[in-house]
Amino acid sequence: MKQIAGLLAAEISGSVKCHEPLSRHTSFRIGGPADLYLQPRTTAELISALTLLREKGIPYFLLGSGTNILVADSGFRGAVIRLDGDFVQFAFEGTVATSGAAVPLARLAGDACDRNLTGLEFATGIPGSVGGALFMNAGAHGQATSDILLDAEILDNTLSLHTFKAEELQLSYRTSGIYPGAIVCFARFSLSPGKREDIERKRREFMDFRRSRQPRQPNAGSIFRNPPQDAAGRLIEAAGLKGHRSGGAKISEIHANFIVNCGNATAADVLSLIELAQETVHKKFGINLALEIKVLGD
Ligand SMILES: Cc1cc2nc3c(=O)[nH]c(=O)nc-3n(C[C@H](O)[C@H](O)[C@H](O)COP(=O)(O)OP(=O)(O)OC[C@H]3O[C@@H](n4cnc5c(N)ncnc54)[C@H](O)[C@@H]3O)c2cc1C
Repeated sequence: MKQIAGLLAAEISGSVKCHEPLSRHTSFRIGGPADLYLQPRTTAELISALTLLREKGIPYFLLGSGTNILVADSGFRGAVIRLDGDFVQFAFEGTVATSGAAVPLARLAGDACDRNLTGLEFATGIPGSVGGALFMNAGAHGQATSDILLDAEILDNTLSLHTFKAEELQLSYRTSGIYPGAIVCFARFSLSPGKREDIERKRREFMDFRRSRQPRQPNAGSIFRNPPQDAAGRLIEAAGLKGHRSGGAKISEIHANFIVNCGNATAADVLSLIELAQETVHKKFGINLALEIKVLGD
């Protein structure tokens, strides 16, 4: 791997590391090492790095802010790519925000507020990146990324960059038609002029709601997608699993659709709680809980 890291370092100006612990890069604070961890800073660097990885037959995975992901204790046998440089830049032109994929969505929401632009308030407190928000169609309080997305520049599996209109990306509840392997590089959002005090009031309300309803310990947001007409958290709570522990992981007492890391949780601890919740809810209510979080590694 050291040799490949050397070749990658010659292609990109951002950092290239071997055996990087992914627990440092996930909100769960869980995850073994990635063989390679690299941070391309431009689209050209990203393409060069991907070309090299493909030539060498090394699998890769695009990590956003790592806030909706569980990484295996054994880590990932391949390269984890985290965008940097051009991808953490954003700009506003009138009511349109153009953002790199690695910009924190909540940062964009804060800047939109400073410019008296409304539309991104729902993202206040969502800890993911713009790219992750598109891939997952992140949302809250009845609104989602799809409501304001104009278009996105995406690197496809042939390593060419294409602009896709929002409607072409098939964004729906916590999912999108962006196929695994495609990489969101930039996105444009359409906002509207608003009143500063209204925007700020909404942001405060949304933050207060989060503080009172979500746990503080490290977590990865909602573990399961809500089944139609119901809520995964309600079902897990009704199944009597709130507060249930496995090793260092616990089903949150504050919100049963969150699993928290109490300090020394492993991915195996979290997976055993996931299985327990799925089996118990299925037995009691006949409902299959589908994962919202992504699992990386074996
Ligand atoms: C405390 C907390 C609260 C949360 N609240 C909410 C909420 O209210 N609403 C909500 O929807 N989510 C919520 N989440 C979950 C999470 O923040 C969102 O799903 C977010 O969109 C994930 O973005 P990310 O950058 O962290 O993606 P990651 O977790 O890094 O990755 C998730 C998936 O997106 C893919 N991806 C990331 N970036 C790109 C890219 N540039 N191109 C292609 N694919 C990419 C990854 O490959 C992976 O498959 C919460 C999480 C936490 C920890």
